[in-house]
Amino acid sequence: MEDAKMPKMMLAGFGGIPYEEPFITAAENKKNTQTVIKDWMLGQEEPSNEPTANKTYWVKLAGAMQVDEKEARRRRCSNCEYYNNTPMMQAKMERIPRNEWDEDAGFRGYCTKFDFVCHDLRSCQAWEKAPFYGD
Ligand code: SF4
Repeated sequence: MEDAKMPKMMLAGFGGIPYEEPFITAAENKKNTQTVIKDWMLGQEEPSNEPTANKTYWVKLAGAMQVDEKEARRRRCSNCEYYNNTPMMQAKMERIPRNEWDEDAGFRGYCTKFDFVCHDLRSCQAWEKAPFYGD
């Protein structure tokens, strides 16, 4: 049984991740994913790295981003400012069982803007350039 006086830091689990550290539930992840699909054009539904795949989606997203299709295809969750794919975050995301949105979508990352598990090959209208690499 947990000692109420024991500091949370003392409860660190495997990899130094505190057992008590809050994280979204699978249900919250699903709800937030659906919100980003509906309101922010999260896609592509069938992920691909092929330069001509899913043209309808990329043309539409490019329009929303006010860039051309080629530039839109360069803007993925994996190079978005809000994408967190650190080992610590990977461990937290392991609490969310894999689902249909994980299929063929690349590596998982956590979207810190919308609080859900996103993926390398996807993108959305809220994409922002990560500050690390310049232009
Ligand atoms: S805000 Fe960034 S990381 Fe989040 S879903 Fe959109 S593109 Fe992906």
